[in-house]
Amino acid sequence: MSISVFGKYPGYRPRRLRQSPAMRRLVRETQLDAGKLVLPLFARSGQKLRQPISSMPGVFQMSPDEIVREAQQAYEAGVPAVLLFGIPDQKDEKASGAYAWNGIVQQTVRLLKKELPDLLVITDVCLCEYMSHGHCGIVHRGTEGRPIPARVLNDPSLRLLADSALSHAEAGADIVAPSDMMDGRVSAIRQILDQNDFGDVPILSYAAKFASAFYGPFREAAESAPQFGDRRSYQMDAANAEEALREVALDIEEGADMVMVKPALAYLDILYRVKSQFGYPTAAYAVSGEYSMVKAAAERGWVDERAVVMESILAMRRAGADIIITYAATDVARWLK
Ligand SMILES: [Zn+2]
Repeated sequence: MSISVFGKYPGYRPRRLRQSPAMRRLVRETQLDAGKLVLPLFARSGQKLRQPISSMPGVFQMSPDEIVREAQQAYEAGVPAVLLFGIPDQKDEKASGAYAWNGIVQQTVRLLKKELPDLLVITDVCLCEYMSHGHCGIVHRGTEGRPIPARVLNDPSLRLLADSALSHAEAGADIVAPSDMMDGRVSAIRQILDQNDFGDVPILSYAAKFASAFYGPFREAAESAPQFGDRRSYQMDAANAEEALREVALDIEEGADMVMVKPALAYLDILYRVKSQFGYPTAAYAVSGEYSMVKAAAERGWVDERAVVMESILAMRRAGADIIITYAATDVARWLK
């Protein structure tokens, strides 16, 4: 008789049972379901505009009418939700486009909700795409003659973030997703939504957002590369897992309804711990770099794109992700059919 080293499973022996596709399905622990997918989309003004993002084959900056077409294809394939980013025509140091009534995201949300009322529209709430300097908040450039480096001001930025979230909700957004990592932004957004009768609009917070090299292609997609400095003062060090759990706890305390871990594949341990510890609906964001690496290798015939993407998504689900945000959402939904 073999003795198991696993106290939890006394008497366990690896077994080779009769195998068949039905048998494998019967005992499979993790299911893939298109209903868990979210497709990120980049909106910019114009008509019939589809501007390819060279570092992300198959991903485009699109005008609102094209966004509707793209979203409809995703929805028909089984993807229930999109995540909208906006690229404004003009940027300034107050991020005016982020909370303008007729900003690019607000326009696009209205059009999407009109044309595809059952599609869930999630909006990214941040200031960096709308700031001329590309940071996620108001920047203090330092005082002349005194060697104080430019820095992002937390508290004054909160008001602008809250106004942005409110304008998205007013346009019809189903979920708002603050991505900036400023301290206190979830409660600021919760408060302004509640005060304006949007108590039923959930907040999906980018709770554990790491300063990551995997964001490279996104900077081209959203035209949001910082003009100076970097975002390390408000994004997390890749080395820190406990800090990520504290950030998630803080966002939940402030009123987040769902929490996100970003990036996904290199942070599955974080995803697992966040889901195990808090049990909240947890999203994994498979970021631009994750997408582009697979595309690049697949173009050279070095990996099987479909197999690699499906395995990655399965791993995110296995680690605990309820929601998977991926540029491959429409493909995945079709492959699942
Ligand atoms: Zn940002």
